[in-house]
Amino acid sequence: MGVGVVKKALITGVTGQDGSYLAEFLISKGYEVHGLIRRASSLNTKRIHHLCGLPHDQNADLLLHYGDLTDSSGLNRLLEKIGPDEIYNLGAQSHVQVSFEMPEYTAEVDALGALRLLDAIKETGLKEQIRFFQASSSEIYGEVHEIPQTETTAFCPRSPYGVAKLYAYWMTVNYRKAYSLHASNGIFFNHESPRRGEMFVTRKIAQTVVAILRQEQECLHIGNLDAKRDWGYAPEFVEAMWLMLQQDQPDDYVIATGESHSVREFIERAFSFLGATLEWHGTGLNETAVIKSFEPVFDFKLSFKKGVPVVRVDPAFLRPMDVELLMGDPTKAKHVLGWEPKVRFNDLVRIMMEAALADHATSFQNIGNLRFAPF
Ligand code: NAP
Ligand code: GDP
Repeated sequence: MGVGVVKKALITGVTGQDGSYLAEFLISKGYEVHGLIRRASSLNTKRIHHLCGLPHDQNADLLLHYGDLTDSSGLNRLLEKIGPDEIYNLGAQSHVQVSFEMPEYTAEVDALGALRLLDAIKETGLKEQIRFFQASSSEIYGEVHEIPQTETTAFCPRSPYGVAKLYAYWMTVNYRKAYSLHASNGIFFNHESPRRGEMFVTRKIAQTVVAILRQEQECLHIGNLDAKRDWGYAPEFVEAMWLMLQQDQPDDYVIATGESHSVREFIERAFSFLGATLEWHGTGLNETAVIKSFEPVFDFKLSFKKGVPVVRVDPAFLRPMDVELLMGDPTKAKHVLGWEPKVRFNDLVRIMMEAALADHATSFQNIGNLRFAPF
């Protein structure tokens, strides 16, 4: 590519947490950024609104195209029309619990969606030009065979989401080997931010803990307290995606912090950020927590009802099967890509809690606690 030629990137899932951060990142690098969005009856562009400009604005930072990962002909047309240099496939039905209720749809989008894109690259005659990133997931390790997990750890997914992501992982490897595509998998461990969907556990905890201490909600209804995750910070993770596509050789990389913490620890730290310590009672489905002591650390009004449980285990948030422990080893990413996480667990909880406090002041929505029928 000659000096001054602007690179073009296409992002699927641009309306999601990672898509929005990646779009900002690529725009800051001078890319022409195109995003695929699904038609929805109400606006789904909250996270990228600031990048979109006004309707028909030819100079908007982010150029949107209607499309769907379930629609091959639309994807083919889009590739012909844009002629991207880099494709980031972030679009997915990304919620593990939902994947148990919608396994076929999850496979359509998360597994076959990736195949549709890979095949479109191969068929459009742009395979020499396009570099492809697949958002793979630590859920492919499932019932883990070793700790920490590396690029060589065996895969054993434990959800329809994990199985679909594993199909996409192997298709990416196969198209790389069979057709010499520049196609790479980022095996991403959980990563969070104030833009994380409200149904994921970290965002749900942060928002609900603030609501409890504001006395607007009594209790946090939660599922598996003892599941452990390797939680990183999303804006750092999107940089790793880009770094993978700047390498001469495509490859697969674990992107993680190397630390693992339980859902219980996240809850405890979220309460302690506001000055409250918890005391746990009972076991299994009867486990609850009450506030043991409270020393306010902010000068605005926070309070709670003494002795009333502020956390309850609720079967509505349990899965038929869960992944108990994830901890990634990002050594390869450090050595080859020069990528290293900076935000660690305590900082991440602080970031999530500060954002929840700020959100709360404006438009708190109690959506993470939406109740569905238990399995
Ligand atoms: P997210 O916030 O849930 O965003 C998912 C995106 O996919 C949204 O833009 C969504 O569009 C889009 N999408 C859903 N179905 C689609 C379809 N049929 N066609 C086209 N687009 C579709 O997810 P995220 O946290 O940003 O994660 C990004 C990617 O990384 C996903 O593939 C996820 O599975 C993977 N991943 C995430 C994590 C994590 O911890 N965040 C960890 C490992 C892997 P709407 O806005 O219209 O719903
Ligand atoms: P995941 O790792 O991609 O499934 O990300 P989530 O944030 O959805 O879940 C992380 C862990 O938290 C999983 O082990 C869940 O079973 C556990 N968890 C416990 N309670 C909840 C809850 O109320 N909502 C969600 N989403 N997860 C929960």
